[in-house]
Parts: sequence; structure tokens; C-alpha cells
Amino acid sequence: DLTINKIAAGEVVERPSSVVKELLENAIDSGATQVVVDITDGGKKCIKISDNGSGILSSEVEKCFLRHATSKIKEIDDLYDLYSLGFRGEALASISAVSNIEMITKTKEEVIGTKIVLSGSKIIKKEPIGTKDGTTITVKDLFFNTPVRAKFLKSTHAETINISDLINKLAIGNPGVRIKYINNKKLMLNTPGDNKLINVIRSIYGKEITDNLIEIDYEDEKIKIYGYIGNNNIYRSNKNLQHVYINKRYVRSKVILDAINESYKSIIPINKFGVCFLNITINPSEIDVNIHPTKLEVKFQDEKDVYIKIRDIVKNKLLNISL
Ligand code: ADP
Ligand code: MG
Repeated sequence: DLTINKIAAGEVVERPSSVVKELLENAIDSGATQVVVDITDGGKKCIKISDNGSGILSSEVEKCFLRHATSKIKEIDDLYDLYSLGFRGEALASISAVSNIEMITKTKEEVIGTKIVLSGSKIIKKEPIGTKDGTTITVKDLFFNTPVRAKFLKSTHAETINISDLINKLAIGNPGVRIKYINNKKLMLNTPGDNKLINVIRSIYGKEITDNLIEIDYEDEKIKIYGYIGNNNIYRSNKNLQHVYINKRYVRSKVILDAINESYKSIIPINKFGVCFLNITINPSEIDVNIHPTKLEVKFQDEKDVYIKIRDIVKNKLLNISL
């Protein structure tokens, strides 16, 4: 039902950056090694994302735009499995309810690709088209049919900042994917996609940051922690350089950030907010995930254990270099 789609769209699609997030996550989920994000006017006019991933079979293309028809959740247990980024099966349905979409896609198995055009959930056209393997999806005129929402969009500048921030986060979480980001024809980011976290960080924040990072590589039977923390040459008075990922998903974890900030406070007091880029891998059964699409919180079964572990690892690393 189109009205339900339009209402539910509000859950997933708040602003252009939420569209970029869902589309980029889909591209990454499809196994792409290269993704190009091309934005016009802060995403208000146009968001175009192309990937070299799996593509979608012509016979499956319509289904992608149906609510819950395609969810990557097969069983309820999967709800706790964060390894797959997309897990709700409603992003494309929601986005297509409030925009004009064109998707061009082809799988390796097919000789010819498929082009589908939708406007406000309605399929306008579907036809075969010659194209390369992978998917290109173009979302135009976001909220064209929900004027109230359109009115509440922020300035192009503000939306652009949101999108850039989001792309940076996804790039850091996926160093194996080459992400090229173009905004109003200007190249904003081009990560190497060589699976080296340090190289992604360098392409976003520059050498001044990467020259002052300390590698962390820890593993025990419960948790794996890989990434970087800042040494005492990086002073930060805000949280901009605190990136924590759990099972590839960007999170704001109070426990982890508290543990990191605590270590810094005890060793480099001037650094209120410890710089960190940490990828944490933990068995999904050890965490409770808030399933709401836009929530970034995560809760550990054994919070104290995680806190102490992170605090001590970071502390030891900082001591090694500052003594
Ligand atoms: P979810 O990602 O939760 O399954 P979405 O609405 O985001 O739901 O996507 C619906 C489906 O469309 C996906 O499950 C996937 O099968 C397909 N799909 C979407 N984008 C892509 C893409 N870039 N490449 C391949 N398949 C895609
Ligand atoms: Mg998805």
C-alpha cells in the first residue's frame, strides 16, 4: 500500500544522508570492491551510487522495492547477526516511496541488464539494457511528494556535511572497498580499497593524523580489536576523531568511548577525547543490538569486561610510546 510506504519511509529516510547510507550499505553488501557516490546539491537533487557488486537478476528487480519482501533476515536469530549491514528489507521500498528512482543492474550470469524506473513507489518502466556487471541507482527529487518533509531539509551545505561524514564512516568501516565520492562534480574522497585501514584514514584525514597513530592488534577468545589510537602529538577537544565499529557497523558505544577517554585522561590529560579508529569483532551473541534502524547504540552482555579490556589495552599502548 502506497500510503503505508510513504509513512514508513519516515522511519528510514530522514534526509539525503540516510538515503546515501542505505544505498552505500547495499552496494557494500552486494560484494562490491568499487563504489562511486555522486551527489548533487547535498543530495536534495540527485544521489547516484554505482557499484561493481553482484547485481540483481531481472526477475528479482521489482521485489527489491517491496517492503520486507527481500529482507536479508531469514530467521529471527539473524536479528542479532550484525555481520550483514542491511537487515530490514525496507530501505529501497521506503526510498522509492518518496523519490524518483532509476536503477540499472546486471548480474554476471546475465547477458543483458535491466533498467527500472519508479516514481513514488510506482513502476513507470522496466526494460532490458546493455550495461556492465553491478548496480547503478539514481535517486532524484527526494520528498517530491511529501512537501512538508521537503521543507524541513537543511541547507545544501548542511546536508553535504552529513553525507560526507557518513561516507567517511562507511569508508573507515570497509577498507577493502574502494570508495570514490564526488560532490557537485568535485572529488571529495577516493580511498584505495587495499584493505589497509591506515590508508583509508590517510585519504580522509591526511598524513598529519596517520603519522601520529599507534596500531592496536589484540585478540582473545572473546573479542578482536584492530585499529589505531592517537599518540600524544594529536590534541583533540572534540569527538570528531573517535570511530568505533563493531562487526563492521559504526556505533556510538558509551562503554568503549568511556574506556578510551579514561585511558587518555590518565596518561595524556590534555587529550579529552582520545583519537581512535577501532574495529571490534565480537560474537553477535555477546551483544544486544537495538534493532531500530537509526540507532547506533549497542549493549554488551558483559560491559565491565569490555570496559576493562579496552581501557587496559589503550593504556598500555599509550604508556609504551610516551615513556
Ligand atoms: P535489505 O538491504 O535490508 O535487504 P533493501 O531495501 O536495502 O533491503 O534492499 C533490498 C534488496 O535489494 C537487497 O536485499 C538486495 O537483494 C537488493 N539490492 C539492493 N541494492 C543492491 C545492490 N547495490 N546490489 C545488489 N543487490 C542490491
Ligand atoms: Mg539495505
